[in-house]
Amino acid sequence: MSGLSEDDVLQRADKAFQVYRYISAQKRAAFLHAIAAEIDNLTDDLIRIAAEETCLPEARLKNERGRTTNQLKAFAQLLQAGDWVQATIDTGDTERKPLPRPDLRKMLFPIGPVVVFGASNFPLAFSTAGGDTASALASGCTVVVKSHPAHPRTSALVSSAIREAIRQCGLPGDIFQEVSDTSIEAGQRLVQHRLTKAVAFTGSFQGGKALFDLAGKREEPIPVYAEMGSINPVVLLPGIVRESDTLPATLASSILLGVGQFCTNPGLLIALDTDGFTSFLHKLAAEMAQASPGNMLHTGIAAAYKHKKSEALHQKGVHTLIQEKTDTTERQGAPALALVDARDFIANPILKEEVFGPYSLIVKCEDEEELKRVVQSLKGQLTATVFGLPQELPVYREVIGLLQTRCGRLICNGVPTGVEVTKAMQHGGPYPSSTDSKFTSVGTDAIYRFVRPVCFQDFPEALLPPELQNKNELNIWRCVNNTWTRAAIQTFNLQQA
Ligand code: NAP
Repeated sequence: MSGLSEDDVLQRADKAFQVYRYISAQKRAAFLHAIAAEIDNLTDDLIRIAAEETCLPEARLKNERGRTTNQLKAFAQLLQAGDWVQATIDTGDTERKPLPRPDLRKMLFPIGPVVVFGASNFPLAFSTAGGDTASALASGCTVVVKSHPAHPRTSALVSSAIREAIRQCGLPGDIFQEVSDTSIEAGQRLVQHRLTKAVAFTGSFQGGKALFDLAGKREEPIPVYAEMGSINPVVLLPGIVRESDTLPATLASSILLGVGQFCTNPGLLIALDTDGFTSFLHKLAAEMAQASPGNMLHTGIAAAYKHKKSEALHQKGVHTLIQEKTDTTERQGAPALALVDARDFIANPILKEEVFGPYSLIVKCEDEEELKRVVQSLKGQLTATVFGLPQELPVYREVIGLLQTRCGRLICNGVPTGVEVTKAMQHGGPYPSSTDSKFTSVGTDAIYRFVRPVCFQDFPEALLPPELQNKNELNIWRCVNNTWTRAAIQTFNLQQA
């Protein structure tokens, strides 16, 4: 948004919020559908421009566009069902002794203007109209997007689609604003502004933690929901390592997918040094060696990859398993695979850091006890995976139990890359993979980051929001006196009260 200071932007966002928070869930759902339609109207120009800016293949970007519009539609469906507000009613009891019990009615409400930082690795699904924006707008919050400098034209196009949807739906223009200032300071001012009520971020640990600290130092601290990446440990049990012909190719394609630029990239493989392990290593290395260096999202990410990879490969006890190919341009990232003993891994914090790119480190363990110590040495992760034969999985129940303590999503016999957008998805794990492991940034539960409960005590029916009134024409599920019921409440507009 040119010419406006961050203060202007937040003042506008807050003013728009005072109107938008009363807009019915049905109208918000129609708005989300309109954004999805307008994104589709951008045609393949959007794909072409995003591909030029990010070097991501067009097929991948088309998929991502589908995911983006489906996310918007999923939140619209959630609003139409209505139950997500968790309407809960405990009716009063005037006869209770020694004191009457008041009538208590609680539900979730939007918190206010939300600042969203667009991610570089998902120019559509985690940027301007991505999951953070969709969930915040669905909740009734207004949104200020700090677009990522790596894809400014893509962001501008998607912003124009959102503005057109706002116009068609007759909503206040400032419910969505984009700030395209490419300085770190602009983002910091947005986070520090007193009218900002929450922040959503996907990117580096350094960026997410800096914003989290900044928000914590405000006079009124606010939540920063930062997803800051992960090394996504994959435990390979001995039977499957020995018997599976497909495991090496499956793992290699996940490590190499999108030049390794996924927060769910399997950056750490952990296995026992048993029969078949050496042959597995050779096969995995052969699969990885076939790949050529690919263009990364931006030169900064490529430079960070080369630096982090080189640092990891030069640590004590780390052995490179494939002959590294030379990058021909500064934007390219060549694949890397390395091996280290469990003892050297456990002792070295550098080896537990994310190397964002087509890189993975294999940790060789002597026995199950050492494998457990490796898992216990790990920090919080977005995902953890176990590959095993059906008969050996129960034998390693304790290892699986330890993995569960480290992650937000636990996967059995599948790769961590590929995150479904559903209600049951959890994309957020213990720190430092996320700043708050109780929330997800993918799936419809992402809406709960931007709401807070308010309880109404002894309020007259006419002043209650429709979801909490006795008669409910919205036909939503709600909890009345500890029993889930469907009721009919009249539609009601608080502004008219
Ligand atoms: P980034 O450096 O974390 O930047 C993301 C956004 O945050 C940018 O808009 C950036 O501002 C802003 N930002 C970063 N540090 C900040 C600070 N101290 N104060 C205020 N704002 C700050 O991420 P990136 O550019 O996408 O990639 C860099 C590295 O992040 C990668 O090499 C990779 O390690 C990691 N990464 C992780 C994920 C993941 O899924 N977890 C995704 C992408 C990248 P500007 O717009 O001013 O640059």
